[in-house]
Amino acid sequence: MPATILVVEDEPAIQELIAYNLKQAGHQLLKAESAEQAFGIVQNALPDLVLLDWMLPGISGVEFARRLRADRRTRQIPIIMLTARSDEQDKLTGLETGADDYVTKPFSPRELNARVKAVLRRRAPQMTDDVVRIGALELDPASHRVTGGGQPVDLGPTEFRLLHFLMTHPERVHSRAQLLDQVWGDHVFVEERTVDVHIRRLRKALEPCRLDTLVQTVRGTGYRMSATT
Ligand code: CA
Repeated sequence: MPATILVVEDEPAIQELIAYNLKQAGHQLLKAESAEQAFGIVQNALPDLVLLDWMLPGISGVEFARRLRADRRTRQIPIIMLTARSDEQDKLTGLETGADDYVTKPFSPRELNARVKAVLRRRAPQMTDDVVRIGALELDPASHRVTGGGQPVDLGPTEFRLLHFLMTHPERVHSRAQLLDQVWGDHVFVEERTVDVHIRRLRKALEPCRLDTLVQTVRGTGYRMSATT
């Protein structure tokens, strides 16, 4: 899953190492040497994840994490703390502050990539087992069941994943390319019109319970899941 990752780290060598490895893993990088600089970046565009050094000059990593969590706009951004300290109390403080995970220096690139992947997966709602509902439509990832107005809806595996993604990201327009990335995965080559084929199948499956209108076409842009027409 390619993501935009903001690395806040004041040591250039570590900053470089992290940036190199995350780019190799296919991610987009944003870099800051201080929390102050990172605030400016976050104001411009929200990253998908923040890799945050604990010990920074000026505003500390812990304080930066606290501020991100205190702001409604940035509250949801996953944070991984980087630290030279392996102290258990520090770890607890970091997690209480709202960090999703914690990596102790020195770390291997492989370990860092694995943590980033795990946190992204955990924080991407379509990867969770939470039951999602939109209008009369309900999807239960654990049992792999979909019902419309209480009636079972029969879906193939791709339509199921597509519906799951759309339901966990409602009221937003997704381009075909975005849907391919999110539902089919970034390493799979599929043509964009494949998305249309599966959207058609999904609507057909939702027709008997009259919920096909939840899947809306946004002309020239893509698709949107919405309970309001
Ligand atoms: Ca530092």
